[in-house]
Amino acid sequence: MVSEDKLVVFLNLQQIVLDIEEGTKLLELFLPQALDKLISVGYPYIFLSAVFIDSEGKINQTFFTDKTNSSIKEAMKEENLFQRGSEWEMKVMYGEAAVVSNIDYFINSSYLQISQIHSMLILPVQQRRKLTGVLVLGRGKNAEQIDSEEIEFGMMITRLIDLAFRLEDTERSLTKITKQVYEMNAKLHQLDKLKDDFVSIASHELRTPMTAIRSYVWMALHKPDIPLSQKLERYLYRTLVSTERLINLVNDMLNVSRIESGSIEIDPKSFDMVTLVGDTMEEMHAKADEKEVKLLVLESQIPKVFADENKVHEILLNLIGNAVKFTLPGGTVSVSFFSDGKVVETSVKDSGVGIIKDDLNKLFSKFSRLDNSYVSISTSGGTGLGLYISRSLVKLMHGTIRANSEGTGKGSTFTFSLPVATKEVIENANIYKVMPRSLVKELEPVAI
Ligand code: ADP
Repeated sequence: MVSEDKLVVFLNLQQIVLDIEEGTKLLELFLPQALDKLISVGYPYIFLSAVFIDSEGKINQTFFTDKTNSSIKEAMKEENLFQRGSEWEMKVMYGEAAVVSNIDYFINSSYLQISQIHSMLILPVQQRRKLTGVLVLGRGKNAEQIDSEEIEFGMMITRLIDLAFRLEDTERSLTKITKQVYEMNAKLHQLDKLKDDFVSIASHELRTPMTAIRSYVWMALHKPDIPLSQKLERYLYRTLVSTERLINLVNDMLNVSRIESGSIEIDPKSFDMVTLVGDTMEEMHAKADEKEVKLLVLESQIPKVFADENKVHEILLNLIGNAVKFTLPGGTVSVSFFSDGKVVETSVKDSGVGIIKDDLNKLFSKFSRLDNSYVSISTSGGTGLGLYISRSLVKLMHGTIRANSEGTGKGSTFTFSLPVATKEVIENANIYKVMPRSLVKELEPVAI
C-alpha cells in the first residue's frame, strides 16, 4: 500500500500531465517536476531517465533530468542499456521492477563520483502489457535499502509517464495530419484555380471565332444577293442553330466559372421590377411570336427591389426563355408579382409541358436536363446550366427561387424573390454588394 501523502503526490503529478498545454513538450516539462515531487516525499533520487524503445527493442527516445551539476545525459552509457539477456532486462520484460547495483556498467565513473549514486531502480513502462520503455531512477542509497512501497510508487509513476508519452505522440500525429491536410487543401485550391482559369480562357478563346462563324452564316442566309439552293439553305440554317447553341453553352460555362471561382460582382441598386420584366418581354417577343406563344405581364403595385439589375435581367431571360421553349404553340407565358413589404416575388408561369413532382428538386443542379442527359441530342437544345446559374445569382442577391408544377402537361411556375429596397436595406447596402474575390484581400493561410 502506498501512503496517503504519496497518493496526493501521485494525483498532483497526474493533474500536471493532464494540464500541460497542447503542443508543448510534455515529457520534457513533466519529468523534472516528477523528480522534485518524488524527492519531496523522501525518496533518495538523484536522476530520472525515461527511455523509450521501438518494436524491435531499439532505443528511439530518451529523456533525462537530474539533481547534480553534471549531466546524466552525457554520463549514461546508452549502448549498454538493453543488452538482451541481462537479469534486470528479463525482469522488466515480464513487467517487474529491478534494482541494479553494478551501476558503473551504465554510467561513467566521473558522474558516479559527483552524484553519489549507489543503485538504480529500473521500472517497465508498458502499453497494453507491451514494454514500450523503462523508467530509470538513480538512487543515493544502496539496493538493500529499498522497500515494496518505493517500488509500488515507482510503478504508479511509470503509468503517468506512459500517459504523457501517449498524449505527446497523439499530439505529434495530429500536428502531422493537420499539416498534411493543410498542404492537400492548398494543392486542391491551386488545382481548382487552374481549372477555373482554363475554363475561363478556353471559353473566351472559343467565343470570338464562334461569334464570327455565326455572323457569316447569318449573312449568307439573309443577304438577298447570295443565291442559295434549298439544300444549302437548310445546311446553313442548321449551322446557325448549332453555333448559337455552342455560344450559349460557352456563355453559360463562363458564367458558372465566374460564379464558382468567386470572380462575379453583384452591384445592387433599387429599381422597378415591373419595368424590367416589361423590357425583357419585349426582347422575347420575336421568339414567342415565332412559336405562337402569347406573352403577358400582370402588372401590380409593388415596391422597388434592391438587386443587380443586369443579373436579374439574365435570370428573367432564362426563366421566360425556358417558359417559351417548353410551351406549345397557342400557349401563354405570364409574369406576375407579389410583395409582403420585405421581398418582391416574381413568378413566371407557363401553360407548357409541365414537370413531374420528382423532377422539381433536380431542376436547379448543374447540367440538369429533364428530357435527357447532356450527352444526348436534346429537342430543347439547352445546356442544363440556366437554372443553376439563376439560382446562384438569386442566392448571391439574398433571394430564393422555387419551381411548381401540377405535373405533365399542366404548365410550370418559377418564382424568385428579391429584397425590397427599404430604407434599412439601402443603409446597409454593403451587405448586399459582392466584390470579385480577386479584389478582396485573400485570407492569410493559417500557419501550423
Ligand atoms: P436548359 O438550358 O436546358 O433550359 P435550364 O437549367 O434552364 O437549362 O433548365 C433545366 C431543365 O429544366 C430543362 O432542360 C427542362 O428539362 C427543365 N425546365 C426548365 N424550365 C422549364 C419549364 N418552364 N417547363 C418545363 N421544364 C422546364
